[in-house]
Amino acid sequence: MSLTVIRPALVLTSALALASCATTAPQSAAAPPSLDDLARDYLAVQLAIGEKDPGYVDAYYGPAELKAKAEAEDAGMTLPMLQARVVALDATLAAIETVPGSEDAGRVRYLRAILSAAKVRLRMLRGETIPFQDEAEGLFGVRPEMIDLTTLDPVIEEIDALVPGEGPLNLRLNAYRDKFVIPAEKLRPVIDAAVAECKARTLAHIALPEGERFDLSLVTDKPWGGFNYYQGDYHSVIEINTDLPTRLDRAVDVGCHEAYPGHHVYSTLIERDRVNGMGQIEFTLLPLYSPRAIVSEGSAEYGVKMAFPGDDQMTFERDVLAPLAGIDASEIEDYYALRKATSDLGDAYYTIAAGYLDQTMTREEVIEALMKYQLASRERAEGSLGFLDTYRSYVVNYGMGYDLVGDYVDQAGEGETPASRAARWERFTGILANPTLPSDLIVEE
Ligand SMILES: [Zn+2]
Repeated sequence: MSLTVIRPALVLTSALALASCATTAPQSAAAPPSLDDLARDYLAVQLAIGEKDPGYVDAYYGPAELKAKAEAEDAGMTLPMLQARVVALDATLAAIETVPGSEDAGRVRYLRAILSAAKVRLRMLRGETIPFQDEAEGLFGVRPEMIDLTTLDPVIEEIDALVPGEGPLNLRLNAYRDKFVIPAEKLRPVIDAAVAECKARTLAHIALPEGERFDLSLVTDKPWGGFNYYQGDYHSVIEINTDLPTRLDRAVDVGCHEAYPGHHVYSTLIERDRVNGMGQIEFTLLPLYSPRAIVSEGSAEYGVKMAFPGDDQMTFERDVLAPLAGIDASEIEDYYALRKATSDLGDAYYTIAAGYLDQTMTREEVIEALMKYQLASRERAEGSLGFLDTYRSYVVNYGMGYDLVGDYVDQAGEGETPASRAARWERFTGILANPTLPSDLIVEE
């Protein structure tokens, strides 16, 4: 997949450094604000936006008084006032003098990238309609490519030949896949076993702080498939939505994504290294609509490949999870061949999502396109519209994040030797433990 990544504005430190060498004394004797003060201002304004936009703050475990203040002041706060606060804070950050490549320069760069996304989100909250691609670019720092859906017709034909039976392909495919649905009474033990394996495989490569933990529950009636509510103190509350039948491969997918080495590990490493290690308070708030999401969702999605390289996921499901679930896994190789073939359809999703959100397609046309080019059942197609209604262009973070993180990590070493695996894990961990923006992941060809 080709993509365009927005490079964040360079912090122009040289001109400022020159100015500070001038012989004339500065007009104001007031000390410039410290980065720690500005990080608090950043938290305050982000929390204030979160009061207007439920879900905007994905998680917050910083000072409680900042949250209480945002709540108390909310009634008197308007969206234009918030926009002005964001613009002013960004201007202050832009004027800060930092040494290129220094820790401070990195903090300023990261904060400004998040504030840039906040400006776009505030425009949306004020009622502006932003086209899908521009919205994704503004919020997440990546521009999804639109494709002509009919170019996927040959892929659909190939998949058609792989799926037995007669009738519409999406129905045949889903009927075939549903042979691998985990019986409801086995769901919990299967997911627990999957998460335990994801954890063991992750801990073999990443040292996590003592006391890190998660609570996991199965829920229904949500617009998402799974959610990690990071609590701070190395603790995640994970919910997995079981509205739709859960297939065997989803147990590992969701275990890696939400927990190890996905969201739980990402938030834990950032808290340990950035918040506790360096006192960088800005990282106690996880902004949902920001370029952070590309790394968060990308590492969570690619985390499956990290923990289960090669055929490991298939063999683990065949040998461990299928017996636990009471599922006949004799055809699991065919199941995985189909999983691989359908992954080539991923690019179509953004085009369809754009059609839906930009209203260039009717709801029924969108459902038809999802059934034809994502091979979804009508039920799953309709279900995915709920996610788009709620999170809009956030969908780009999964596939584009996977590609960006995957290409970046794989550059450390291909193949399955212990050395190349170790090199990939080191790169992967580096993305998680340091503030990483989409532009950092661009692989130079
Ligand atoms: Zn996620």
